[in-house]
Amino acid sequence: VTADLPVRLRDLVGPAGVVTAPDQQASYLVDWRGAYRGRAAAVVRPGSTAEVAAVLRLCAAEGIAVVPQGGNTGLCGGSVPDGSGTQVVLSTDRLRAIRGVDRANRTMTVEAGVVLADAQAAARDAGLLFPLSLGSEGSATIGGNVATNAGGTAVLRYGTMRALTLGLEVVLPDGRIWPGLRGLRKDNTGYDLTGLFVGSEGTLGVVTAAVLRLFPAIRRRATAWVGLPDVAAAVALIDLLQDRVGDRLSAFELMSRESVRTVLDHVPGTRDPLPGQHAWFALVELGDTAAGEPLDDVLAATLDDALDADLVSDAVLATSPAQAAALWRLREGVSEAQNAEGPSLKHDVTVPISCLPEFVVRTGAALADALPGVRLVTYGHVGDGNLHYNLGPPRGSDGGELVARADELSAIVYDSVASFAGSISAEHGLGRAKAAAAARSLDPVELDLMRRLKAALDPAGLMNPGAVLADGQGRSG
Ligand SMILES: Cc1cc2nc3c(=O)[nH]c(=O)nc-3n(C[C@H](O)[C@H](O)[C@H](O)COP(=O)(O)OP(=O)(O)OC[C@H]3O[C@@H](n4cnc5c(N)ncnc54)[C@H](O)[C@@H]3O)c2cc1C
Repeated sequence: VTADLPVRLRDLVGPAGVVTAPDQQASYLVDWRGAYRGRAAAVVRPGSTAEVAAVLRLCAAEGIAVVPQGGNTGLCGGSVPDGSGTQVVLSTDRLRAIRGVDRANRTMTVEAGVVLADAQAAARDAGLLFPLSLGSEGSATIGGNVATNAGGTAVLRYGTMRALTLGLEVVLPDGRIWPGLRGLRKDNTGYDLTGLFVGSEGTLGVVTAAVLRLFPAIRRRATAWVGLPDVAAAVALIDLLQDRVGDRLSAFELMSRESVRTVLDHVPGTRDPLPGQHAWFALVELGDTAAGEPLDDVLAATLDDALDADLVSDAVLATSPAQAAALWRLREGVSEAQNAEGPSLKHDVTVPISCLPEFVVRTGAALADALPGVRLVTYGHVGDGNLHYNLGPPRGSDGGELVARADELSAIVYDSVASFAGSISAEHGLGRAKAAAAARSLDPVELDLMRRLKAALDPAGLMNPGAVLADGQGRSG
């Protein structure tokens, strides 16, 4: 990297587009959890798709690696550069335009740097719903959501970001622009390039804009907090709810007692909504596009039947939006509360919903054998099979052993996931954190296809090296 790189970048994107002062660069060089830190040759903030293209052309010509970055809330270390100081961070924080809402087509076109909460608000202003919903929605960007194929709380009803993305505009590693902003629900003209870039974590190009699907606004909600004896009861309750209310079931979040305890201890203003000791809790939400039906009654009647069938030990319904928000705070506070508790070992896994009970029992037993007293902070969007299966150190321990034995303990979790034909990355992606583990768990044919795709799109291996594919390498033949 030549010393005049910042000057040459400034020529392309203007003075506001390059960050060189160390104190101003700092927030671009560390991830949300503070787990990954790096250095950069420059932080560049292009203000248009054409400027992104110019930056990538320059970097390709000079052989400089590029790390795309959105809101920097990713949990796998994919958005920060390595420690070499030779990579360029390309931030999308100046690509913030909502290019348009097409009400009749029920789509909107937004630039990559638009914060998810702002995209939701734009849909709301048009009387519609953009349903992607994450705890990080105040900072995470649409480009980051596309690049990680984000999931969140509404996947059981609306699908992941891949299902919500109809078209993309992408700048390729050589600087060419693919103008794929089609708002079509049917389009069988060959390979699904949109689907290919969704979930590619900045390793195949820079997403600069997306066409997103919009849905009818939700006019009525009902929210409940439920105590459950075990995960089998939770799975049976999901089944019952889906039979009774169909796709009006818009969230089913499960939390172990230890997860709730962590939040109550660390997140100010939270309180336990239910008396009594329950092993598991679920946050259940129904949403209806029609205002007429008394949704609270439907949920209460279903939970009554679940109580009679011993699926549910106790339940409380939110009677106001403020009470519903307080219940969601319990669920959304887990990440923050776990950060406050010190070291933890995080896994973001998925197995078929029907396998969740046995997965939890078997994996928990194997971990307790390996590290007696290990604390399982297990929670997640189990309505779609996703568990955040996080380990905390035994009480009284400083976490040293947990950290030192991280690979061994994660291998227990991942072997168990494999035995249920699950996935070691449900929604957070691979980034740098899980690229090596993925290489071990993917089928060799699958891995080879991924390498060939990487080699075809990014032959020099300059886009986000080390993310997704641990060695950053493609394979062309
Ligand atoms: C409190 C909290 C709760 C969360 N909850 C959820 C959840 O429920 N579900 C979920 O799925 N995730 C969740 N996440 C993870 C995170 O918010 C998502 O992965 C999100 O999609 C990342 O968006 P971002 O803009 O912050 O991306 P970043 O962190 O900036 O980047 C993530 C990856 O995408 C790449 N990237 C970013 N922008 C672009 C672009 N324009 N073009 C190409 N590549 C790009 C980066 O290189 C990196 O590899 C949570 C995170 C936090 C901190």
